[in-house]
Amino acid sequence: MNYFECRNGELWAEDVRVSELAEKYGTPLYIYSTKTLKRHYRAFDKALTGVDHLTCFSVKANSNVGLLRLLGGYGAGMDIVSGGELYRALAAGVDPQKIVFSGVGKQDHEIKEALDADILMFNVESTQELERIGAIAGQMNTVARVSIRINPDVDPKTHPYISTGLKKNKFGLDMLEATGVYSMAKHHPALDPVGLDCHIGSQLTQISPFAEALEKLLDFADQLKSSGIDIRYLDLGGGLGITYNEESPPLPEDLGRAIMDTLAGRQLTVILEPGRAIAGNAGILVTRVIYTKKTPAKHFVIVDAGMNDLVRPSLYQAFHRIGEVIPKGREKLSMDVVGPICESGDFLAQDRMLPTVQPGELLAVFSAGAYGFTMSSQYNSRLRAAEVIVDGDKTILARRRETYQDLIALET
Ligand SMILES: *Cc1c(COP(=O)(O)O)cnc(C)c1O
Repeated sequence: MNYFECRNGELWAEDVRVSELAEKYGTPLYIYSTKTLKRHYRAFDKALTGVDHLTCFSVKANSNVGLLRLLGGYGAGMDIVSGGELYRALAAGVDPQKIVFSGVGKQDHEIKEALDADILMFNVESTQELERIGAIAGQMNTVARVSIRINPDVDPKTHPYISTGLKKNKFGLDMLEATGVYSMAKHHPALDPVGLDCHIGSQLTQISPFAEALEKLLDFADQLKSSGIDIRYLDLGGGLGITYNEESPPLPEDLGRAIMDTLAGRQLTVILEPGRAIAGNAGILVTRVIYTKKTPAKHFVIVDAGMNDLVRPSLYQAFHRIGEVIPKGREKLSMDVVGPICESGDFLAQDRMLPTVQPGELLAVFSAGAYGFTMSSQYNSRLRAAEVIVDGDKTILARRRETYQDLIALET
């Protein structure tokens, strides 16, 4: 559920007219809803009431500092995958003791930065990485808390690009290898193996892959215990799906129930790393129609947002619902909604039944709050969009639109 609704024939973001925001801030424009964000974060927090837990928002889904600051304020931790994301999380005032660091390619400087900040833990993905973290922590006279990311080999049944827990994926370690890695960590003076981690994929629409992964992890935790390694944190990653079109993914409370049923009284702090499920439906992308065009094959609507602003349709054939900001009851036709970029892959929707629109009118692309702005680029030397955050009838500009000066500012 979210707070982008049609009222009296117009789209509103909470208590602000979307058309007013487009007028004031220009298009393409990302609009985020505070109430939605809070509601989604709280749903995760509540889902695990009764067990120690930490909800670490996956910063790669939406890394706007203003949005991270809101989430941090509700009590969220952060799951980061780079030094840049660490910088953003700290700039947003997030407690470092609630930050976990994932990713297969952590570099020395990023490891140092994270140790300097004293983050909660590293989710380690290879033997070499563990050795590197141990060496750097040793040089810094500190101890790095680590989790090993297990690849549980379960099929998340999602798009292949966002499946991460299959044997053939680059993520994590299989359990056999992980056993050795834990014992290395245990005997290393600068490493403290405190957790066990996995993340099996994204946009999961069933609970069963989570439950399957959890059971494998718990079995493994029991094995570790019998060899003298007592972990305290169990990180199940992110990946809960959202409704883009007609999916009906499980709710955070369904996931919570499955976790608590399986956990059966073990004294572990459960960490979740949701990204999409918190931010996805808390954001829309508003775009203005530039031209319409009819060819012998198709009707095209050419809008001012392209694949550089929202790449998911091009990259994953992802479906995003599109609607008019001010509906006028026109006839519907099958059409392609495309951007100005010189690529045939530059589309937001293909063969979609939509009301006929005129140049200058506004369209809203829904479910754009996760993997929207963060995956945007300047391709075709296009200026990245502005981002605003709405809270009730108030709006703040969370990131201004880029300028031509911004485009070349770093070129010497
Ligand atoms: C991407 C990612 C997440 C978040 O995934 P969502 O599908 O957005 O919930 C969590 N953890 C890790 C390690 C990730 O790579």
